[in-house]
Amino acid sequence: MAAAERTADHYPSFRTQALIDGAFAPAASGRTFDAVNPATGKVLAQVAACDSADVDRAVKAARAAFEDRRWAGLRPVERKRILQRFAELIRAHRDELALTETLNMGKPIADARSIDVRAAADCFAYYGECCDKVYGEVAPTTADTLALVLREPLGVVGCVTPWNFPMIMAAWKVAPALAMGNSVVLKPAEESPLTALHLGELALEAGVPAGVFNVVPGLGVEAGKALGLHMDVDAIAFTGSTEVGRYFLRYSSDSNLKRVFLELGGKTAFVVAHDVADLDEVAQAVAAGIFFNQGEMCTAASRLLVDNRIRDALVDRVAALAPRWMPGDPQDPAARAGAVVSFEHQGRILAAIAEGVASGARLVTGGTAVRQESGGAFVAPTVFDGVSPASALAQKEIFGPVLSVIGFDGLEEAVSIANGTVYGLGAAVWSGDLAAAHQVARRFKAGIVYVNCFDADDITTPFGGVKQSGFGRDKSLHALDKYCDLKTVWTRL
Ligand code: NDP
Repeated sequence: MAAAERTADHYPSFRTQALIDGAFAPAASGRTFDAVNPATGKVLAQVAACDSADVDRAVKAARAAFEDRRWAGLRPVERKRILQRFAELIRAHRDELALTETLNMGKPIADARSIDVRAAADCFAYYGECCDKVYGEVAPTTADTLALVLREPLGVVGCVTPWNFPMIMAAWKVAPALAMGNSVVLKPAEESPLTALHLGELALEAGVPAGVFNVVPGLGVEAGKALGLHMDVDAIAFTGSTEVGRYFLRYSSDSNLKRVFLELGGKTAFVVAHDVADLDEVAQAVAAGIFFNQGEMCTAASRLLVDNRIRDALVDRVAALAPRWMPGDPQDPAARAGAVVSFEHQGRILAAIAEGVASGARLVTGGTAVRQESGGAFVAPTVFDGVSPASALAQKEIFGPVLSVIGFDGLEEAVSIANGTVYGLGAAVWSGDLAAAHQVARRFKAGIVYVNCFDADDITTPFGGVKQSGFGRDKSLHALDKYCDLKTVWTRL
């Protein structure tokens, strides 16, 4: 059906209750919170507002499922089949999942279908495949001993996720945790809980046993905190802001010293040397790097560091591309950008823009709310030039479609500016001299570096940061290490 023909009657019926021990149920308190469509400001559904009582019930169910080995005790090939079936069901429900994601967080429907649903399904398929391919070792000890190094699941893993890629962020954590045999309690972001609940339903349908995958929607300060402080949660896998990441470290230290893995914010530097071959190509990559997903990307190319010799030429080209990224109706298949996630977030982005103007940076394009007649929260693609590397524009994560351009003279200065924030998630360098580019790549303090490309992605590559962008890696075989313990078993022969 064409998006324009959709009416409220054609919307998917949303799951809105918590999924605990294989059954959907309201929060024990009976409280709910509104799931809002940020493109219209209209309420989509009332969702269970779980608090510590619900989290405790979910953790108990997850623990019971773990201890009776209804999941961890299955033959690995059987866990694999179930996770593969789960991936197939995600693909089969692509339209509803994509529409739900778009309605709930404002991203363009074309992206939700071709990126979010596909990547979530591929992630479950990939980790499903690992179930019977990743196993322990026999250590090369003396001839009269046998030393086994076993990989054992941790037990109960709490996953707390943000709203910018709700399904993908959930999949990156839940899939490897399940593949290793753990039970999971997922707390999705309050702004976008709907697809997580749908995933829970599909997991049950695929054959994931009751209690193994629980979903507790709710507020961070209630459900998220309760999970972080719970004495019977063995690990927390968190993606979100650096500020909230700090809370999880405190929760751990105030409770059972559960291990905590943090994927946090970023302030990616996109460095362009004077000798790049094709400025138009660079401009396209910069524009996509900052304006894709409304700039709501932890790896968004939010700082363009460009050699002063080509700065004006590149800024002109990026500004000329900005209209192509002007937000449209997220349900329009032709829209490249949609609504930002909420009015509150729109307010934060506009405040950061106002601070940028006050700092003396030159507003080249954008800087305003747009599509206000829609009733939704939209921000025009925005470019600032002449940004001081020490200013808030260049230091704080805005998480919106706002590009800060900083000039440099020589790659030495570029590296120093690039590394001059508290973050260390992504970085990029473009140059006609590949050797020079790789020298720069080695000096970036970042977990993910792009050379003459941007935002390349594959499930086989680790994703995560250094410094205050966190620690631990999602994706790839390395992510499995977060969700298991090594146990050494000695036998004298
Ligand atoms: P937040 O840190 O605000 O929230 C993340 C999650 O933590 C949400 O589920 C939230 O619940 C919960 N939470 C909030 N406060 C608390 C609390 N006091 N105790 C326990 N849990 C809490 O991040 P956003 O959702 O706003 O997401 C944006 C952030 O995520 C950006 O900083 C971005 O860079 C980062 N991010 C990092 C990625 C990476 O891989 N490094 C990838 C994607 C995003 P609630 O929704 O109810 O507030």
